[in-house]
Amino acid sequence: MFQMTRQRKPSWLRILCPDGNLAKLKPRRCTCGRWTIRCEPTHGVWESYDPGIIHGSEDLSVAIILNRRLMQVIWNMGISQPLLRNTWGAAGITPEATYLGEHDCQCQPISMKPFKLPAKPHASSDILANVTVTPSEIREFKKVWYQ
Ligand SMILES: [Zn+2]
Repeated sequence: MFQMTRQRKPSWLRILCPDGNLAKLKPRRCTCGRWTIRCEPTHGVWESYDPGIIHGSEDLSVAIILNRRLMQVIWNMGISQPLLRNTWGAAGITPEATYLGEHDCQCQPISMKPFKLPAKPHASSDILANVTVTPSEIREFKKVWYQ
């Protein structure tokens, strides 16, 4: 059964969780035996996400039906790091964005899709191409994050 297998560490976790990333993401094996992406803020509660990228209306429909908490992952080209953005219910959820779903030991992950680095900025069809983060936004992010 799914829960009984000791899952191998997905290699792409290294890409999503670079050393010292501001989002404090770390690959961690859960007590249930599965790999998770754990968010370890300095002050605050650890949160674990399934190692699968939720993307597109099909994944999102499942996540919403299952009432799974989602965290949006935004790859920042400038600093080559992931940034996280909280989602509140279905508000602000868009099929073009990428999300991680909260890990639940009792449930199968919604997605097992690997994280891929976004295409280079000249690909204008890529939604991330239009996302730029200024140093002041990063400061703001840090401030909010370390509260
Ligand atoms: Zn678990």
